Amino acid sequence: MGATRTVPFFNYPFLFKSDEQGLTEVMLDVVHRGAYILQRDIDEFEARLARFLDVRHAISVADGTNAMLLGYRAMDLKPGEEVIICSHTYVATASAVHYAGGVPVCADMGHGWTLDPASVEKAITPRTRAICPTQLNGRTADMDALQAIADRHGLVIVEDAAQGLGSRYKGRAAGTFGVWGTISFYPAKVLGCFGDGGAVVTNDDGIAEQLRLQRDHGRDAEGKFVAWGTNCRLDNLQAAIMNRKFDTYDQVMRRRREIAGLYDELLRGLNALELPPAPDADPDYFDIYQNYELAADGRDALRDYLKQKGIGTLIQWGGQPVHHIEPLGVRGDCPRVDRFFERCLMLPLNMSLTDDDVRYVAASIREFYSVNKRAVAG
Ligand SMILES: *Cc1c(COP(=O)(O)O)cnc(C)c1O
Repeated sequence: MGATRTVPFFNYPFLFKSDEQGLTEVMLDVVHRGAYILQRDIDEFEARLARFLDVRHAISVADGTNAMLLGYRAMDLKPGEEVIICSHTYVATASAVHYAGGVPVCADMGHGWTLDPASVEKAITPRTRAICPTQLNGRTADMDALQAIADRHGLVIVEDAAQGLGSRYKGRAAGTFGVWGTISFYPAKVLGCFGDGGAVVTNDDGIAEQLRLQRDHGRDAEGKFVAWGTNCRLDNLQAAIMNRKFDTYDQVMRRRREIAGLYDELLRGLNALELPPAPDADPDYFDIYQNYELAADGRDALRDYLKQKGIGTLIQWGGQPVHHIEPLGVRGDCPRVDRFFERCLMLPLNMSLTDDDVRYVAASIREFYSVNKRAVAG
């Protein structure tokens, strides 16, 4: 059962290697201009992002976590106000609420691994202010159901769309449903820069103005200090790199959906697996597959087997959904998340993958279950 090829979970050097000449030119242009902070590359990037998402404002910031923190401050989240999040998310979704003075509360995951509307409704208290779905793995949650709950209880929606750039629900882009939404440009994200990066998007002019002030020391366009602020700017160099990468973003989304479709075709029918929705499963959802995350019987043994086959896999969040992180004490009743995290696994899905890599991964998984049928069923 030796490894006949290696398929790393993610290939960081590939980010540069895949377009070495073009990216070198972009970076040289920036450093030759000495254009480091809030220069025209930032303006261009923000304009492109807003156009791509069909939203009024895109404000670039230092990273996806501080994007949310600024979002909560811009909407004036009050001390003790609660925000309902999905436990199946990165700790940042919760910590942004905490650092803004609020209280994160976990609800359960539902269909497609995203926030379950019924569980949200149960988590509402008199202190609840907002619902923050995570547009997980490149899939947008059921926003109609969440909006109906928000309307019924007088709550607002905000979105952690860190993983969702280009994902759509009923034609509308992730990040643009609520008061604000945030995107991350961490290197392994679908649009990854060469360090940290993030953005807040909003259709609310007042929130946008607040965000622009906050990210740059409370300075207005004339350089006057008109409010409290901090330093939360995206580097101009990163904006220039992403302007280059944006040119091929449609192809990137297409390719990621193609890989997910291939996994689905090759793995469908294996009873030991629970697969994420296929790209063509429901016309209401346009998923961009930031990750290909499934649930598998005998997950740990499968993971070891794939490792020996030279295949890298990952358990999301290091295996810790938010309500399992004991020192943080975020409350939540999330039985589906509890069960899912005994079985969940992410397969490689990135732009360095070939179809043959995908076939090798799928064949190795099938091989594992044909060899281990009894062990896994027990
Ligand atoms: C990556 C990620 C973040 C954090 O983004 P950073 O840019 O690394 O701060 C937040 N939420 C989710 C769901 C993420 O995947």
